[in-house]
Amino acid sequence: STSASAQLIELEDAHIAHTYHPLPVVVATAQGAWVTDVEGRKYLDCLAAYSAVNFGHGHPALIAAAKAQLDRVTLTSRAFHNDQLGPFVAALAKLSGKDMVIPMNTGTEAVESGIKVARAWGYRVKGVEPENANIIVAEGNFHGRTITVVGFSSDPVARHGFGPFTPGFRSVPYGDAAALEAAIDDNTVAVLIEPIQGEAGILVPPADYLPAVREITARRNVLFIADEIQSGLGRTGATFQCDNVGVIPDLYLLGKALGGGIVPVSAVVGNADIIGVLGSGEHGSTFGGNPLAAAVGRAVVGLLETGEFQERSRTLGLRLHASLDRLVGKGVLAVRGVGLWAGIDIDPELATGREVCELLVARGVLAKDTHGSTIRLAPPIVVEAADLDWAVEQLEAVLQEL
Ligand code: PLP
Repeated sequence: STSASAQLIELEDAHIAHTYHPLPVVVATAQGAWVTDVEGRKYLDCLAAYSAVNFGHGHPALIAAAKAQLDRVTLTSRAFHNDQLGPFVAALAKLSGKDMVIPMNTGTEAVESGIKVARAWGYRVKGVEPENANIIVAEGNFHGRTITVVGFSSDPVARHGFGPFTPGFRSVPYGDAAALEAAIDDNTVAVLIEPIQGEAGILVPPADYLPAVREITARRNVLFIADEIQSGLGRTGATFQCDNVGVIPDLYLLGKALGGGIVPVSAVVGNADIIGVLGSGEHGSTFGGNPLAAAVGRAVVGLLETGEFQERSRTLGLRLHASLDRLVGKGVLAVRGVGLWAGIDIDPELATGREVCELLVARGVLAKDTHGSTIRLAPPIVVEAADLDWAVEQLEAVLQEL
């Protein structure tokens, strides 16, 4: 007889668009850093839903906030106010050192919203000629899946066959501040950058790159938009990866962990002199800022206000990187990352990243490959140190099997 997992995978495959290639694990329940499949097997979650589960599965404070709000009111639309939205945006703005928030749902929507803000600011404040604004992005970027966003991707699989695309974007090599400055002209309204490129393989730019981007954008009157959707909210041992390099962007794009792994919550956060350019009726979302999202988002900000998660991510991250660095030369070509976030390049002569992830699944570790031979590790920040050590031991054992 076929297993329950196999049957569920078959059912899904028969009726779902084939835009993903999941590892063959069917999760039924989860708690903290551990998930359990339908057959009762336990796995250590070392992906945390691409950092949307930074605070762990079922964090008691987040579940309590969600449950309490479920019994009160879950959706009003922005046609009316709700009593959760004000406290959420005030707390998020304060955490970010800014004063204004656009509440949205998914990361891609935050990116699209940031682009609209930048263009509106460019025309109305900077004085760019109508319809001529341009935004500079980095090669290797991942900012989401809408037509505009894949239009400025450099990944052929993400963009091929989906044109025509939105004009007004220029791509420059990531990590090269001189190339970025050379691409700026009088019509440039913004630079849109991931402080660490996540989907590209946890690419950490040179230490002086983001400070240089900040200096250049300030001098040239161009907005600096930091896409911290994956790097932000504790993952790198700080509230924002920008904090780690002493940089304050004009706009933060946030998502993933902002919804506590419970509901989709994203945001653009900046100051009123920029975000305030948008007027009534110019932007919106039926679900953006809904009371359930706001209650959970407020609780997420509450967890980050203590600094406890940032500190745990920093110290566990040092431990993780120290043990991963010892694997270089033993089937691993390179390890990159900051905090509790690592990109591990497997020697492609030994195995693909996918093969290594399949062997890790067999040993009870969930991780995800990216770009052929890279494995990404990003466990929930609540992971126990001993479990983290155990996961690295499993990777070492897999590499020895190859
Ligand atoms: N920006 C970055 C840096 C991301 O890593 C992602 C998702 O991986 C997104 C944007 C898109 O977020 P979402 O999938 O919620 O639309």
